[in-house]
Amino acid sequence: MPGFEIIGREEQEELNTIFENANGVLFRMGFDGLRNGVYKVRQFETNFAQEMKIKYALACSSGSAALRLALAGLGIGPGDEVITQSFTFVATVEAIVESRAIPICTNIDQSLNMCPRDLERRITPRTKAIIVVHMLGVPVDMDAILAVAKRAGNLPVVEDTAWGCGAEYKGKKLGTIGQVGTYSFDHAKAMTTGEGGMVVTNDHVIDANARAFSDHGHENNSRVPRWEDSRRSSGFNYRMSELQGAVGLAQLRKLPVVIEHQRRSLSILKQALTDIPDIEFRPVPVGGQEAADAAVFYTPSPELARRCRQYLIEAGVGTKILPEAITWHFAGTWDHISELVQACGPNLSQTYALSQARLSRAVALPISIKMSDSVPDKARQAIKKALS
Ligand SMILES: *Cc1c(COP(=O)(O)O)cnc(C)c1O
Repeated sequence: MPGFEIIGREEQEELNTIFENANGVLFRMGFDGLRNGVYKVRQFETNFAQEMKIKYALACSSGSAALRLALAGLGIGPGDEVITQSFTFVATVEAIVESRAIPICTNIDQSLNMCPRDLERRITPRTKAIIVVHMLGVPVDMDAILAVAKRAGNLPVVEDTAWGCGAEYKGKKLGTIGQVGTYSFDHAKAMTTGEGGMVVTNDHVIDANARAFSDHGHENNSRVPRWEDSRRSSGFNYRMSELQGAVGLAQLRKLPVVIEHQRRSLSILKQALTDIPDIEFRPVPVGGQEAADAAVFYTPSPELARRCRQYLIEAGVGTKILPEAITWHFAGTWDHISELVQACGPNLSQTYALSQARLSRAVALPISIKMSDSVPDKARQAIKKALS
């Protein structure tokens, strides 16, 4: 959960330098005579790329914007089909719609991430990209997805890493395995800038397209005044401000510690629940190391999942997204997105019945950095009571 749990003095000091050393310049570019060489967003991008071991990182205004920019980077446009999964935050589908492309969702498998076989079934000659989502911090089985993408003529794969920032798959940071990766720094994510996002890639053209799109098409050239910049395409304003960049610099330094603590909390919590019969933990793919954002397990039935939630709330532990909040995280409920209804059928809950059956039996326990020592036992008692 977490960046917000340990936000404080370090972020404040980064912010102060904007006012103490840079004359309060809040715009990410230009104003060179005023800012005394302080470029917070630019530095944040450099440090982020280094942390993720990737060539290019583009900071932007939100994780939703990052998804839109990833699709702009790939040149996705009207009539293109983009496939994502039915269990994700609504922003993933919205970014496809914003790109005037056609959103197609797959079912999820036991891992609660994209089902590779269902992906293969839904690919058509119009499919131009795939967006996988490392939901609740568990890595997607990238080898399986990339194999399908390759068989389909090397379709580009975007990793929505809003929930997987800092986690790995087979030695690589999540977000750096497909052609493009996106991150969210909203206030509920592993690191936060209040609002913010990042797009990463090793491909120069994808980066240049996305970068220009984030700034009205400007091909920024620091040697000429801004109004003389050449233009690459149309675009919009998805820029990050220096305030967010400053906070991001401090939060990024804390990310390894956040992940380490979350993993420790998850392991203690899982240990406390291992001998409860009838629950089954969500599998993590071979080679995957989760961000440990939540502890997710299956119960035998939707009724029992709801009972777990009820007893967990009474115990003061609570749940996160599952089973209660699938409204904003499950395509089977998104009748309000006409583009999705048009592309995937008038009865979305029926189209994604298989996913719904899995999600409704699942319970997610929130993981915090500062998990109190009493939480594992409270959770254990509540779940045992609910299942008895
Ligand atoms: C949070 C989130 C986003 C959107 O990020 P914002 O920064 O809130 O716009 C996109 N996808 C997923 C899976 C998310 O969880």
